[in-house]
Amino acid sequence: MELKSPQKTCVKKDLFLMLSTMSAVSVDVTNRDRIHALADRVMSGGSVDREEAMWLFHLDSQADITDLMAAANRIREHFKGNKIHLCSIVNAKAGGCSENCKFCSQSAAYTTESPRYGFVDAEPVKEASAEAERNNVTAVGLVAAWKGLREGPILDEVCDRIREMAADGKVRPDASLGLIDSQVVADRLKEAGLACYGHNLESSRRFFPEHCTSHTYEDRLKTIGFLKNAGIKICSGGIIGMGETREDRCDMALELKAIGASVVPVNFLNPIAGTPYENNDPLPPMEILKTISCFRFILPRQEIMVAGGRTVNLRDLQCMIFMAGASALMVGNYLTTLNQPAEQDLQMLKDLGLDPDWEAHEEMESGSCGEGGGCGCSAKLEPAEVSA
Ligand code: SF4
Repeated sequence: MELKSPQKTCVKKDLFLMLSTMSAVSVDVTNRDRIHALADRVMSGGSVDREEAMWLFHLDSQADITDLMAAANRIREHFKGNKIHLCSIVNAKAGGCSENCKFCSQSAAYTTESPRYGFVDAEPVKEASAEAERNNVTAVGLVAAWKGLREGPILDEVCDRIREMAADGKVRPDASLGLIDSQVVADRLKEAGLACYGHNLESSRRFFPEHCTSHTYEDRLKTIGFLKNAGIKICSGGIIGMGETREDRCDMALELKAIGASVVPVNFLNPIAGTPYENNDPLPPMEILKTISCFRFILPRQEIMVAGGRTVNLRDLQCMIFMAGASALMVGNYLTTLNQPAEQDLQMLKDLGLDPDWEAHEEMESGSCGEGGGCGCSAKLEPAEVSA
C-alpha cells in the first residue's frame, strides 16, 4: 500500500537509511540517496545522530560535497526561506588581552600589529550603529579583548553603551565580552537591554586546550549557563582551520546544539603574523563549504553565520556559502582585519535572490531557540547543567 502522510514517508525513509547501513542486507544506495534521505528527515523535524553526522563530515569527493551542499541548501530554504540575518561588530576594547588563544592577534602573549585601546565611549558605537542601519544590518555586537566581565565600573560603562544603543533604536544591541563569573553580571546585562551575547566554544572540548590554556572549556560553558539563566540568547560557534580534525568540528556542532545556541558563527582561521598559527595551511574552500553544510544538518533551524576569515579563505567562492546552508553573514570589518565592503555583500545577496532578515530581531526576542521548543534549551539552566 502506498504511504502518503509525511510521518509515514519519514518512517519509510528512515527504514531505507537503516537498511543502507546494514551490511547483511544488499541495498544499492548511493551517497546522494543517503544524503537526501537524511535531509528529508531533518526537514521533517528529525535529526542526524553523531555517526551520521560524522559520515557527512568525511565525505570527500567533489560530487558528494556538491550533493551535500544541495541538500543543505534545501534545509536552509525549508526553515529560512530567502532571508539572511546580517550582523556586524564594533571593537569596543582592542588588544592587550590576558588570554593566550593561539589564533588571536589581540592576545598580549604574542607580538602582532593589532591596535590597542581602552573601552570606547559613546560616539564610535553610535557611528557603528548608524552605519549598520544603512547596511540593513539587524544587530551590532560590542566586542572587547579582555578575559571577561565582572561587577565594577567597567560593567557600568558596558551597560551604559548597551542602553544607549537600545535607546537609539537603530540596531539590536548585542555583545561579546568574554567570560562572566557571576549571575549578577548576566542579569545586569539583560536589564540594560542586551538580547544576545556572543561567546564561542571555539572548538571541541577535546581540542580546546590545544589552542588556549589560560581558561577552560568549562569556564565557557559556565558563562553560557549564567547568560541563559538571565534570559539572554546565545550566539556561539567556533573557528575552523586551527589543526582540529573533522571529528572535532562535528563534536563542536553537536555541543552547540546541546547548549541551545540561537546563532552559530563559523569563523575560518586567518593566520596572523606573530601568532602561533601564523604558518597554518589554509583549509581548502570545498572543505569549508562542506563544514557549513554539515553544520546545517546538525543545526537546521539555527542561524548559521559565516563570520571571520571569509574573504581570505573563500575568495571567489564566497557566494556559495548560502548554497552550502549558511543563513547569516557578518558584514563590515572584523575586529582586526578587513572584510569586503558591505555594499558588495548586499549586492551579492541581491544577485542570489536573498533578502536581509529584518524580522530576525523579533524572533530573537520571542524566546525561541529555533528548535521549535522541543529540545528544552529555552528552559533556564543552572550553569552546572550546561557543562554536562
Ligand atoms: S579571549 Fe578573546 S581577545 Fe582574548 S586572546 Fe582569546 S580570542 Fe583574543
